[in-house]
Amino acid sequence: MRDIEWGLDPELAGLVDMATLAVRAGGRRSAEGEHSEALFMTSSFVYGSAEEAARRFSGAEPGNIYSRFTNPTVAMFERRLAAMEGAERCVATASGMAAILATCLALLGQGDEVVASRSVFGTTRVLFDKYLAKLGIRTQWVDLADVKDWQRAVTAKTRLFFLESPSNPLGEVADIAALAELAHQHGALLAVDNCLCTPVLQRPLQLGADLVIHSATKFIDGQGRALGGAVLGSQKLMDEVFGYIRTCGASMSPFNAWVFLKGLETLPLRMHAQSASALSLARWLAQQDQVERVFYGGLEQHPHHDRATRQQSAFAPLLSFVVRGGRQAAWQLIDKTRIFSITGNLGDTKSTITHPATTTHGRLSDGDKLASGIVDGLIRLSIGLEAVDDLQADLAQALGAL
Ligand SMILES: *Cc1c(COP(=O)(O)O)cnc(C)c1O
Repeated sequence: MRDIEWGLDPELAGLVDMATLAVRAGGRRSAEGEHSEALFMTSSFVYGSAEEAARRFSGAEPGNIYSRFTNPTVAMFERRLAAMEGAERCVATASGMAAILATCLALLGQGDEVVASRSVFGTTRVLFDKYLAKLGIRTQWVDLADVKDWQRAVTAKTRLFFLESPSNPLGEVADIAALAELAHQHGALLAVDNCLCTPVLQRPLQLGADLVIHSATKFIDGQGRALGGAVLGSQKLMDEVFGYIRTCGASMSPFNAWVFLKGLETLPLRMHAQSASALSLARWLAQQDQVERVFYGGLEQHPHHDRATRQQSAFAPLLSFVVRGGRQAAWQLIDKTRIFSITGNLGDTKSTITHPATTTHGRLSDGDKLASGIVDGLIRLSIGLEAVDDLQADLAQALGAL
């Protein structure tokens, strides 16, 4: 294939708005002149001669060999997301968990230590505590928002800080710049799982983080179709992560990359619309008698509202609230809603409703639930693209039935 045209002159990448990058960055046309990004659904590539094959395999000539290593559709997705995060390079992976595992196995070894926020995705905790621990990589769990707690946990063996900000489901926010500085003072790297904000609302590399991790399965796809992930950072760090992926095999499928390319095009529009609806619903919920408390970074009463305002251009479309009456009332309210989907997933154009204490956080001990603020009356909403008035009316009738 001969490249005819890049979707966007790479020199423009730093000058144009996120919405333009989302549509144009990283695109590449084949000699056919297709307008929509092509799907290269192929596992391997052929050469004009034995000599050309030898040059490709030796690295003397750039080009595709096998889709576990590189694929043109996957490469377009990687370049587009890299432009949006302001990263030198992106490595796409088979899922969000594969992105976290690739980061850790590429950059850490036996005897190294990780300091990580307790408020991370549940499966991430299992990955660190069970599977990385087996390889002699120890993790110390700390309070996301308390920099002193991170400081106390650092040892001479610490190589990585790992966090999600804002946290799910309570919307706690880390001071990313302060944690980056602390990590660097101790020769460690800071990795931020930016799944909930996406680069549209927060760009952790600009705040000093070394690595950004994504589950593309959530907002990047945005329509609940495909599993995927990504790791982003400097060329040097990404060379290591790429080496791991091409060797260990958790590569992104070209089909999924094509779905995510289309997802990225509408990501800025979706994030802003879903975020505006979430803010409006959070304000409304905070005024309802049956609601004890609302957790949403966009509300002034949230303890991390100021920090969130400084770090993010808007607030992630995910909010939670505590309904009076504990588990029974929470389950009843969930069952009464007619528009919201009852599911643990998030980031979809379809709004979802979840009872964290008995689903996403069900495996935590009672003590851990208490420490993480996962009370029985807590309900999480991921706000989609339905009309906000319809969502509000749905919640109103469900609350009214309690
Ligand atoms: C879903 C999720 C993951 C895991 O992603 P998968 O694509 O499901 O493997 C990691 N981090 C966060 C914050 C998530 O929400």
